[in-house]
Amino acid sequence: MTFDLKDKRVWVAGHRGMVGGAVARRLQAEGCEIIRAGREVVDLVDQSAVHEWMAESRPDAIVLAAAKVGGIHANDTRPVDFLHDNLMIQANIIDAAHAFDVARLLFLGSSCIYPKLAPQPISEDSLLTGPLEPTNEWYAIAKIAGIKLVQAHRKQHGRKWISAMPTNLYGPGDNYDLQSSHVLPALLRKFHEAKQRGDTEVVVWGSGRPLREFLHCDDLADALVFLLKNYDDDEHINVGSGVEVSIRDLAETIAEVVGYEAKLVFDSSKPDGTPRKLMDSSRLHALGWNNVRSLKDGIRSTYEGVLRDGF
Ligand code: GDP
Repeated sequence: MTFDLKDKRVWVAGHRGMVGGAVARRLQAEGCEIIRAGREVVDLVDQSAVHEWMAESRPDAIVLAAAKVGGIHANDTRPVDFLHDNLMIQANIIDAAHAFDVARLLFLGSSCIYPKLAPQPISEDSLLTGPLEPTNEWYAIAKIAGIKLVQAHRKQHGRKWISAMPTNLYGPGDNYDLQSSHVLPALLRKFHEAKQRGDTEVVVWGSGRPLREFLHCDDLADALVFLLKNYDDDEHINVGSGVEVSIRDLAETIAEVVGYEAKLVFDSSKPDGTPRKLMDSSRLHALGWNNVRSLKDGIRSTYEGVLRDGF
């Protein structure tokens, strides 16, 4: 299947987020018209507002990258926001897409939809095979419902709509708040500030031994445009880099990019979290997409952006 994006009207829902922003940037090369609508234009939690907005804007395709997102603490303390708001946002958009006959829709989830103890690397068919990680199950349940709603529209109405599940992301537009950020932006900021202050040590949470997979958001956006054009199947599809790195190695790579040698101090009062989290992206790679930059190159360009624009 090839869906030609040229001259199509493509709504990037959530264009102010890291993923939506990257998708909007990437779509500029496709000769399509990119539609954006901030919260002041349409409140995505409001069903009639979304319906009205869709009636006016009439997109040919939608990338559904709008969601309430946050780290472990936010998820744990505001479960209603993460479950209810995400259910509403996706149901409203998918409903209106059906009402106005939108040809293509790409729904985005995350790797947290998979069971806590899923075998690694995590393949798509691990979905719903075991209990979720309790700290983010609110977000995960909403995202699983989204995947199922897309599948239900495929089954009942023959829609050519799809879902993709990205691994841990980084890049422009990331969250650099040290309390709520993920490890890569946190360590980038810590090394940068240590260099500015001349500190001799940088604190790394946990043991440094956990393994994580990282993908630059612009590589994700490239994969998503590929899927929008070429993928049409009931099953959601994983999008990862396939490369694992230990937190210690990540810290050393970041030190090199920032150009600052400091002693790594491992803070064992902080949790390691899951020892390993790697997606199996072989289905995506078998389709012909495998366009991942190296972690060092990705961190380097991200750091250049930070030096230019600030955190
Ligand atoms: P996770 O992938 O859901 O576990 O989320 P994180 O990206 O927050 O953490 C990944 C790993 O990096 C964990 O083992 C953390 O303990 C470790 N880590 C090391 N230093 C930091 C830091 O400064 N911030 C964060 N968030 N994690 C860190």
